Amino acid sequence: MQVLKFGGTSVGKPERMKSVAQIITRNDEPKVVVLSALSGTTNALVGLGESLAAGKKPEAKDRIDTLRAHYDGFIAELLDSQAKQSEARSIIDEHFEFFEITLKISFNEALNRDILAQGELMSTKLFTLYLQEQGINAALLPALEFMQTNEEGEPDIAAISDALNTKLPEFENIPLLITQGYICKNHKGEIDNLQRGGSDYTASLIGAAIKASEVQIWTDIDGMHNNDPRVVDKTFPIAELSFDEAAELAYFGAKILHPASIWPAQKYGIPVKLLNTMQPEAKGTIISKTTNSDDVKALAAKDGITAIKVKSSRMLLAYGFLRKIFEIFEKYKTSIDMITTSEVAVSVTIDEDANLNKIVKELNQLGQVEIDSGQTIICVVGNFVAEQKGIVNKIFESLADIPIRMISYGGSRHNISLLTDSANKEKALKRLNEHLFGL
Ligand code: ADP
Ligand code: ASP
Ligand code: MG
Repeated sequence: MQVLKFGGTSVGKPERMKSVAQIITRNDEPKVVVLSALSGTTNALVGLGESLAAGKKPEAKDRIDTLRAHYDGFIAELLDSQAKQSEARSIIDEHFEFFEITLKISFNEALNRDILAQGELMSTKLFTLYLQEQGINAALLPALEFMQTNEEGEPDIAAISDALNTKLPEFENIPLLITQGYICKNHKGEIDNLQRGGSDYTASLIGAAIKASEVQIWTDIDGMHNNDPRVVDKTFPIAELSFDEAAELAYFGAKILHPASIWPAQKYGIPVKLLNTMQPEAKGTIISKTTNSDDVKALAAKDGITAIKVKSSRMLLAYGFLRKIFEIFEKYKTSIDMITTSEVAVSVTIDEDANLNKIVKELNQLGQVEIDSGQTIICVVGNFVAEQKGIVNKIFESLADIPIRMISYGGSRHNISLLTDSANKEKALKRLNEHLFGL
């Protein structure tokens, strides 16, 4: 069985959704098809939640009406027959009745997550209706019946696997199962989600749970590019990546993949292909166990980073000092991305600053603390076995006039990370593109 995931732009227009139907029926291999919400919908739902949270009911109502008009237009173009169109409208009505209710009840975080889940519920129902109208044998597989997170908010792969493997035999003669990306139930049984961009993660989790033969992530670009195409003009798709390389790129900002989406596939050695819905014949990127070179592969950048320096000439060399620092971050469930140490100071970076004040208060007891926010991690990914190729030299040459706040090299064979002020990001990515790729 294969798992194919189609992102927001791949289902964002009626004609795109129709191309998805063609792609999933190109061969007879049974498939689980994971869909995102139509592009723009999740953003609109985030906006709706913000309006409700701020008590701005008329603004919330406007947002609901704008979204409704969008879905009415979409249905009219997607489906041919009047009967299917009215079926689709009455399905969508139910979701909009829920949105109308949100205007009348008190707002809370659980309600917000329920609102956010409606996008994927609507896209999958519309797509299934279209497949039915085309006479294609397919069924809905509700993600809320198997996609489960635990108390830590992490996907519970054993529970997902059990639930899915119990459910799948119910669909024995149906080759195409359409399910929602992004949404899940949490340990309290509430509707929740796998964070923005989470449909990639859904696909990889399903792939792992059913030991799929392959996971395909279909999007609006022909694979993982060597640099961020939103920032740098001259980029090219990378044919092959190892799981480790892809995981580093995803984690450090390559938006094409959700940051956590590689580990489930990697755990079970399931190849992941990144493919372009607009160019289905393009080779894209294949992510698997092997890597094909010992050179630099790609760059990615992650914004919104805070650097924290703890200085203590008295304590640093004492054993146990680092442990004390790390325990504070552990206590506040804040993960550290980069670390550098000197004789008198330790610097770390975090991307989640919700508990920054509390962390700093406790760190202050260990030494003098300095904070730099608005930082970007630039991550150079490749297979740097013994670093024969002078990549580090090239990196420093290309960034000669760009202030670098931290450097991390040697932590893994796949990653050299640099921290700089976000204002320098574009220049740094372009320079590195010139020097490392000759572009
Ligand atoms: P989807 O809606 O299909 O999930 P996303 O917008 O989440 O699509 O991801 C695809 C986008 O990721 C591309 O359009 C591109 O702008 C962006 N992107 C950022 N970095 C990279 C990269 N290194 N390679 C390819 N795409 C990238
Ligand atoms: N619809 C969700 C989002 O926009 C999940 C996804 O597209 O992967 O973030
Ligand atoms: Mg995405």
